[in-house]
Amino acid sequence: VTSRSLRAELARIVGEDGLRDRRDSRWGEDASAAHGVRGAPDAVVAPARAEQVAEVVAYCYRRGLAVIPRGGGTGYAGGCVPIDGGVVLALERLAAVRSLEPERWRMCVEAGATTGQVRRLARENGLLFAPDPGAAEQSQIGGNIATNAGGPHAFKYGSTGRWVTGLEVVLAPGELVRVGGPVRKDVAGYDLRSLLVGSEGTLGVITAAWLRLEPAPEAELPVLAFYPDTESGARAILDVLAAGVPAAALEFLDAGALAAGGGSLPDGAPPGAGFLVVAEADGSVGEAARVRDELVEALGAGALAMRAPADRAGARALWRWRDGVSLAVSAQRGGKLSEDVAVPVERLADAVIGTVQIGARHGLEACSWGHAGDGNVHATLMLDPADADQRRRAEAAAADLLGMAVSLGGTISGEHGLGAIKRGQLRRQWSEAAVAAHRSIKRALDPKGLLNPGKKEP
Ligand SMILES: Cc1cc2nc3c(=O)[nH]c(=O)nc-3n(C[C@H](O)[C@H](O)[C@H](O)COP(=O)(O)OP(=O)(O)OC[C@H]3O[C@@H](n4cnc5c(N)ncnc54)[C@H](O)[C@@H]3O)c2cc1C
Repeated sequence: VTSRSLRAELARIVGEDGLRDRRDSRWGEDASAAHGVRGAPDAVVAPARAEQVAEVVAYCYRRGLAVIPRGGGTGYAGGCVPIDGGVVLALERLAAVRSLEPERWRMCVEAGATTGQVRRLARENGLLFAPDPGAAEQSQIGGNIATNAGGPHAFKYGSTGRWVTGLEVVLAPGELVRVGGPVRKDVAGYDLRSLLVGSEGTLGVITAAWLRLEPAPEAELPVLAFYPDTESGARAILDVLAAGVPAAALEFLDAGALAAGGGSLPDGAPPGAGFLVVAEADGSVGEAARVRDELVEALGAGALAMRAPADRAGARALWRWRDGVSLAVSAQRGGKLSEDVAVPVERLADAVIGTVQIGARHGLEACSWGHAGDGNVHATLMLDPADADQRRRAEAAAADLLGMAVSLGGTISGEHGLGAIKRGQLRRQWSEAAVAAHRSIKRALDPKGLLNPGKKEP
């Protein structure tokens, strides 16, 4: 099909106002642009109704065209990038709140609602939607589900999938189906809902989700603890776990990340600090205060200094700062290449130290930060994106980072997914038989291989 006839045929499904300009460069990239993953779509459509999504998928399936679902484009794996062309299916117009039942702790939203919208709506009704990946104003619920996104509070509350009780999804060759719903328990069939969670647009297009909410905690009390080095900081994390403290979040920054972001930290970092732990206690006012005291005790042993924001505004300022760490690290050299490996928590120090060593071996400055309680390390190589040699060395170093994660008993991706960037890498950590099962599932649900081809490939 020519580009013009493709546009005309898609316009018949979504209307002229559902077509987007395919030459706009944003459709060809996501937040992983530093990896050099780019594409050019043959067409971009933004359906306004779930039925139109089904029709677009059916049309593409008939014509043998690739369909690339796109949420907010904040992914770090190139998942929504049309690497070999195809039809980008943007969910941005499918953003209605279909139902909100605060007294029953649940809502049903369309895939294009932003994470921030959903979190605010829950809050305004006294409820919590806990998943908080760091680009909440741009990322969409559909994208969060398709990547099973985590974030700081996944330590206590789990990743996005734990908050999903049902999905409306378009399966090949263009069928709108529903798995699960408002019901909180459902073991009738195979757990297709879980299979779609984290499937990165390769098994179906999510059009809506039923979300489980919880009463919002009354109080959230962060605690900061600074340590001289990685070993003492990582030991403190293990002490928190061993003491059985139910922290809501347990984050860390190593020396390099602290050097990059510490300047904008409210009240700065004390001299000699080489590792920061940001923990949070939450719950009722009494419970949060009790957990905070337990955190102070467990984190205190090897700490250089400890701090606790005095009020809610201070706590909010702290988390805003935490959201900006990634950008502060990028600003050091103009760019970065970041992996999101996860290791068993007792190997955290090895992963953090190993990251710096791998960077040094490739002549690059490296640092890490991330979700310490989950052993999830944003292992990062700092680079000048205009320097091709640095980019090449960073790619080689990134491969070593993945190898390190697996050798420490961990995973090559704790929360961003494989997308295009890590395609072909699953066999680093899975056996041939497990990889074959992965492939069989893809073939069963997408026999023509047209749903986000080339992504999440084992
Ligand atoms: C500053 C920053 C901080 C971040 N911090 C975190 C963090 O702490 N934790 C974390 O987990 N992630 C984090 N991320 C990554 C990103 O925000 C998450 O992965 C997010 O969930 C992606 O959502 P999105 O809507 O932008 O998806 P996109 O980037 O648009 O797409 C991601 C993948 O999901 C697929 N997809 C999107 N929508 C649908 C749909 N409706 N149906 C089927 N497939 C779909 C796409 O095809 C693609 O494979 C961060 C990103 C940035 C830029």
